[in-house]
Amino acid sequence: MTPALYVVATPIGNREDVTQRAIAVLRAASAVACEDTRHSRPFLEGLGVAVPLIPLHEHNERRAVDRVIALIGEGKSVALVSDAGTPGISDPGGRAVAAVRAAGIPVIPIPGPSALSAALSVAGLADGPVLFAGFLPARPGARQAEIRRLAAVPAALVFYEAPHRIEEAVADLIALLEPDRTLLVARELTKVFEEIASMPLPAGAAWLAADANRRRGEFVLVVSAPPPRTGLDAEAERVLRLLLAELPVKTAARLAAELTGRPRNEFYARALALKADGDGPDRR
Ligand code: SAM
Repeated sequence: MTPALYVVATPIGNREDVTQRAIAVLRAASAVACEDTRHSRPFLEGLGVAVPLIPLHEHNERRAVDRVIALIGEGKSVALVSDAGTPGISDPGGRAVAAVRAAGIPVIPIPGPSALSAALSVAGLADGPVLFAGFLPARPGARQAEIRRLAAVPAALVFYEAPHRIEEAVADLIALLEPDRTLLVARELTKVFEEIASMPLPAGAAWLAADANRRRGEFVLVVSAPPPRTGLDAEAERVLRLLLAELPVKTAARLAAELTGRPRNEFYARALALKADGDGPDRR
């Protein structure tokens, strides 16, 4: 194996989700750096991995990374795992990876399970941007400010959430995001009590309240993108519609921009949308 840091994804619940390549790399490594050795040891022993474990968490990061760099410098390979899923996705590991790469050492991904990709794979989102927001802040004020900031982003949103905060997080999403968005709740993915439910966002609170089991376990929330908005205020919209009734799209957009002082491309996009909806004569 090329001496390197191998960043290895491990299961998020179902142990059979570990890949053949992950097993091979973990067995062949000289050491496995892990977030919590007590957590990872039984999993690794179950795979027949009998190599030294290096604890690597936020409190010993610098020292542990130096040890990893030294081992790889001696021609050995080190694997990095987190408690579950893909290291570096809402997990420690990111800074360690950066430090190892900065030392000129190759960092090689061994991809596999992540709650993020598992939830997205069943979310049924249309093509379009997706923003992974990770965990929302725990404090209500900071959480609400973050949701307000995200509300303006024209993308689907993915959150990780813990059971003790799921109700307040969903309540804030309902209060602060547009009601015509869809919420997917994915809990306990790949585990015995896996549950995946999709609903209009405003129905999320009642869905959680209906059964105490729905508030247990680990959660991913996927909120669909906000519906497209014209960006035009009422007056600009009125001007555009009047012009569009008489003129081709390009001319109407140019004149509306000149009359209102707003950017022409906003009017052009809106005019095309109005035409596509059948609002106005079909002249370009
Ligand atoms: N690195 C991991 C990954 O790749 O998904 C995520 C680690 S983060 C510390 C833990 C959070 O991920 C949980 O609080 C939950 O939001 C989400 N998560 C992890 N496993 C999950 C599962 N089986 N079902 C649903 N969400 C899960």
